[in-house]
Amino acid sequence: MNILVLGAGQLARMMSLAGTPLDLVTLAYDAGTDKVIDPVSFKQYDMSLTAAISWADSITAEFEHIPLPVLALCEQSGKFYPGAEAIATGGDRAKEKALLDKANVPSAPYRLITQQAHFDEAVESLGLPLVIKTCQAGYDGKGQWRLKTLADKAAVWSEMAAFLAAGTDAYPHAILAEKMIPFDREVSIIGVRSQSGEIRIYPLTENQHTNGVLTLSIAGKEKAQIQAQAEQAFSAVADALNYVGVLAIEFFDVAGQLLVNEIAPRVHNSGHWTQQGCHVSQFENHMRAIAGLPLGNTKLLRATAMVNVLGQAAIPREVLAISDVTSHWYGKSAKPGRKMGHINVSAANLHQLGERLAELAEILPEADYPGVAATAQALV
Ligand code: ATP
Ligand code: MG
Ligand code: MG
Repeated sequence: MNILVLGAGQLARMMSLAGTPLDLVTLAYDAGTDKVIDPVSFKQYDMSLTAAISWADSITAEFEHIPLPVLALCEQSGKFYPGAEAIATGGDRAKEKALLDKANVPSAPYRLITQQAHFDEAVESLGLPLVIKTCQAGYDGKGQWRLKTLADKAAVWSEMAAFLAAGTDAYPHAILAEKMIPFDREVSIIGVRSQSGEIRIYPLTENQHTNGVLTLSIAGKEKAQIQAQAEQAFSAVADALNYVGVLAIEFFDVAGQLLVNEIAPRVHNSGHWTQQGCHVSQFENHMRAIAGLPLGNTKLLRATAMVNVLGQAAIPREVLAISDVTSHWYGKSAKPGRKMGHINVSAANLHQLGERLAELAEILPEADYPGVAATAQALV
């Protein structure tokens, strides 16, 4: 069976790697360059998007910020999962909030802003501090402002106004202001829904961000009550979208109550740990779902942590000498802060996971791999 992925980055690559043993052949379409490539070897194919769509038996996406005309072409083919609406919802915070409200899933209080009066009202009614986000195209914390004091309001508004004015009739710009949530921690749930509506959900993941970018995830330490809350939100959102494939939902944990931060209609960085932590990874389950194959086991095999490798030219080879450490390299050219690869580390229990993270922390400098040493300490 042939699979076409919209987007040709590491997520497409890991989907392809997971699909190979299932006899799935994957090509990736990069909308930025209008090229079709093999996302593992990076070999280029002389194939148009239309030809790639005809070639594919099933089409999916690794990124929610895809040009609408490309989404429309894929949707017309009748073989696009999770489909244009789900992708567009994940790529537009206004659509996302409307969906969450409709599905009765709690998220951070917000106001939509397209003019100054809306902003004034948001400051008044939500109060400060505010997190202000562009509705489209934001990722890794890009396209955001923080408003902490009234003294900064005019300066922040002038930047917002410039952004709003840069929109066009075809692509109007919009902004969303959210109450800044004083969360205890951030967690995410990853799950998969099949073409017949069956749902399987992975254990909750705790996530650490540094400067808006995920740096470390850890799975295997959650209590049943919080898992149940996340699963309920997952099912509500996945069913509302009639979703097919892997879907991720990020939450703020506020004293044991989960508030949705955002959804991602795709495999997600905070689910990379499933490659070693579960019987069937998020990548394999996504491929199974979109190919119409039975879903795989999402139960936790062993406590697992993932450390992102950001901006480095290579993963230090010595880490592989630590028991149950695996390296996942994306084959991209290095740029400061760019997601270059990740390291998974597994263990029989959380205490042992802490010991292994401590061994990792001796090799990986804190400045490049923040949080590894502190997480190790908290677990042992
Ligand atoms: P990505 O899609 O790569 O996860 P993003 O650009 O879509 O990132 P968000 O997830 O919305 O950005 O925000 C990035 C981070 O900023 C969050 O993980 C969280 O740490 C912080 N943040 C966002 N919104 C809020 C909020 N309302 N209150 C407190 N912190 C927030
Ligand atoms: Mg996002
Ligand atoms: Mg996010």
